[in-house]
This record gives sequence, C-alpha cells and structure tokens, in this order.
Amino acid sequence: MSRRVVVVGAGPAGSLLAIYLAREGHDVTVYESRPDLRRTDIDAGRSINLALATRGIVPLIDVGVIERVDAITIPMRGRLIHAIGDPTPDLQPYGTKPHEVIHSVSRSDLNAILLDAAEATGRVTIEFDKQIESVDFDASEIRFEDGTTAPFDVVVGADGAGSRVRKAIATKGACTFRTDWLDHSYKELTLPPGDDGNHQLDPNALHIWPRGEFMLIALANPEGDFTVTLFAPTATFDALGSREEIDQFFDEEFPDFVTMVPDLSEQFANNPTGALGTIRADGWSFEDRAVLVGDAAHAIVPFHGQGMNAAMESARSLAAHLRESPDDLGTAFRAYESERKPNCDAIADMALDNYVEMRSGVIDPDYLAKRTLALELEQRHPTHLSPRYNMVMFSTMPYADAQFRAARQAEIISASLADPSINIDALVDALPPLPAPDPLADPKALSVT
Ligand SMILES: Cc1cc2nc3c(=O)[nH]c(=O)nc-3n(C[C@H](O)[C@H](O)[C@H](O)COP(=O)(O)OP(=O)(O)OC[C@H]3O[C@@H](n4cnc5c(N)ncnc54)[C@H](O)[C@@H]3O)c2cc1C
Repeated sequence: MSRRVVVVGAGPAGSLLAIYLAREGHDVTVYESRPDLRRTDIDAGRSINLALATRGIVPLIDVGVIERVDAITIPMRGRLIHAIGDPTPDLQPYGTKPHEVIHSVSRSDLNAILLDAAEATGRVTIEFDKQIESVDFDASEIRFEDGTTAPFDVVVGADGAGSRVRKAIATKGACTFRTDWLDHSYKELTLPPGDDGNHQLDPNALHIWPRGEFMLIALANPEGDFTVTLFAPTATFDALGSREEIDQFFDEEFPDFVTMVPDLSEQFANNPTGALGTIRADGWSFEDRAVLVGDAAHAIVPFHGQGMNAAMESARSLAAHLRESPDDLGTAFRAYESERKPNCDAIADMALDNYVEMRSGVIDPDYLAKRTLALELEQRHPTHLSPRYNMVMFSTMPYADAQFRAARQAEIISASLADPSINIDALVDALPPLPAPDPLADPKALSVT
C-alpha cells in the first residue's frame, strides 16, 4: 500500500523535500498556512533576501533548479565594512578563490522556484491557506485551524521555528525542545535605488556597519534596492519609540546610511521587530509516522547566513536516508537525526559566535590579523587549512567537523601570532587533510560576477 505522505509547510525545506519525495515515487500533499506567494505579495511590497551558499546550492543542483536560481542571484564577494567616520568602506574578501562568494537571493523568488519544481513533478499537490492546528496520531488525522481534517500515514514537519508538528511529537513523549531566546532583536528596512534607478552601494558585497553591540547589514536585490537589517539589543529597539528618537539614533550611529533612505523613521516605525532564537530539539521523529526538517528541527540565529542553507542540507540528508531504508522509515528517521543533530548543534553555536565577529570583530585589529594569517595559510596549505567561515560557507564538510577543525586552527594561529618563531607551517601540515569536495558542489553553478 502506498503511504499518504503529508508535508506541513511550503518554505524552502518543505518544498525542497517534497521534490525529493516525489522523485522517490511518493505522492505528496503539502499544506501551507500562507497564501501562494507566486500569486500574492505576502511581503507587502518589501523584498526580503538572504545569503545562499554551498550547502544550499548543492541541493538546488541536485533537484535541477540551479539555472533558474542563477537568474535571480547577486554574488557578494566579501564584507564591505562601513566604519563610523570612514568615508572609504573597506572590502574584506570572503576568500581567495573566484567561487568563494555568497549569493544574495530573494526569499520568495527562491521559494517560488521550488514550489514550481515540486508541482512540475506531477506528484506534489500544494494546498495554500491551510494552517494546521494539531496532529492526531491515533486517528491518523491532521486538524486544521479552519475545522477541517485530512488523513495521513506519514507527516513531515517543515513548519518552521514554531512547528506544530514538533509539538505533536513532543506530546507523544518522543521530542523535548527548548528555545534559547537572544536578548537581541532585528528589523528589516529598505535602502531604495538611487535617482538613476541603480544601487546606491556596491551590490556585489555584503555591507556591514559594525557598531560593537549592534550592527546594520545590507544585501542587494536585482531591482536596485537593498534589504537592510538592524540587529541590536532588544532594549535598544524598546528605547526607540518616537520619530525623534529614531532619527537621532540613526544620525549618530549611521550618518552615511541616513542620507540614502529618506523615509527611514517611517519604515522603522511601520516595520515589525523580530525576535531571534535557537531551537534545541532532541527527538526529531515519532516512530515511522512523523519527522522534522529545517527550522522545525534546528532553527538558529541568522548571523552565519546558514539557517536556510542548513534546512536545505537537512532535506537532502533526510532524502538520502529514506532512499537507503525505503521500507523502514523509523530507521531512516533515526539515522537522519544521528547524522544531522550534532552538525546542527555545531552551526547553532557558530552562528551565535559569528554575531560577535560581525558586529565588532570585523574592525578589531586582533581579529583582522588572525583572518589575514588564516587566508595566507590557506594559500600555502590548500589541502590542510581553510578558514572557519570558508568551511561553513563554501564546503559541505559536516558542520561539527568544521567547528572542530576551526578550534584547532585558531589555537595554531593564536600561538603563532604570540610567538612568531613557531614553525606554523609544520603545525598546519600536521592537521588531517581537508575532505574532498562534494561531487555535486560545482564551483561554476552560480555566476560569480
Ligand atoms: C532576519 C533573518 C535573516 C536570515 N538570513 C538568512 C540567510 O542569509 N541565509 C540563510 O541560509 N538563512 C537565513 N535565515 C534563516 C532562514 O530564513 C530559515 O532558516 C529558513 O527560512 C528555514 O526554512 P524552513 O523551510 O525550515 O522554515 P520556514 O522558512 O519558516 O518555512 C516554514 C513554512 O511553514 C509554514 N507554516 C508554519 N506553521 C504552519 C502551520 N501550522 N500550518 C501550515 N503551514 C505552516 C510557514 O508559513 C512557512 O511557509 C534568516 C532568518 C532571519 C530571521
């Protein structure tokens, strides 16, 4: 008997997994609480983008949509640092190789490509405006907020950080989870095109205005605008109540930015403030009936630009385990969690670390000396050393391995900076060689200029 497979959530993880499941011959119904983003402007005219890197690119190659994605991405070759009072921003390249760039992509345009590809399999039905309220495993029924129900045999929770499927698994005693909230929040703003319709800043860089405890970042959109995000202590947002307070804050902290955004205080007042947290879940499945993927299993803070990349990497991993054990889903689900959980814990920690790097490290001479030395060592020992950022962003090496290697590399680099007489080349050569790249990780898959 073929199983009735339901995916809850048609974000990047759910829509990608639906494609993988269809390829394995499953008929899949996806329920999505929001309207179809291909037909409705659900972001109310604002373009929200994110950074796509190798771990997200590889599954997109795998399911055959990379050419469509290439048409909507903008390469970013490094961080452009806007230090206060410095009129000439400084580019810190991400790497030394041409493909070591990350790609700005519209969240909804990428999602639309995945939805199209899922439907094009002929095996995936997507029902929009269907918000699930709960999962009744005993009755094998999904319950929706609108009072209707739908039968299922297997349910995949791709329903994001607030996952109802995760809660249903927890109710069965198969999952425990907690949310570690950060005492920092975020707000997205738009830096409009200039009078000539073009970008007001270099589109091929990720712009950072690091200010110690807080920062602004900006990623370009193809339409000539930038999506800008302020990350700051929640108390800072709470203190910015009036237009005067907002203007004064931006005038003092980001004077160059203010001149480019005429309606800044209006945007700030109108756009929502978002919370930031890490979901630590143990138990990503229930028997052979339910499994979690993406943010539902492992939501992280956005400072490494890896949440969606990790979500797509998890979808690919789950698909591989299902292929390996097609007749024993419980085993496949457990093997998937065993593989992914330590790695998702590692990226959760590295994402938290990267906040400090972005908001203050990038202007700290000690950090810059270490980063310069790491890049030099990579040139001299390309088979044995890669900076942490590069292992996370430009490889598919398990995150936990990248974290472990990075800690060892950091020790060597710190020791050498403290004592230049150390034979650092010998220490680097003694590290285990870097793993071979993923055969699917084609460095030319996306345009880099
Ligand atoms: C400010 C910010 C910046 C970020 N930048 C980056 C970045 O640069 N790079 C990167 O890789 N990641 C980034 N991320 C993280 C990224 O957005 C998430 O990791 C990614 O969207 C996770 O995909 P997902 O499919 O698992 O979950 P989601 O994208 O949250 O999708 C879940 C889907 O499920 C639906 N849903 C939820 N509940 C229900 C329900 N009850 N019934 C039916 N449907 C439901 C939702 O409507 C949604 O469509 C960022 C996150 C934030 C907050």
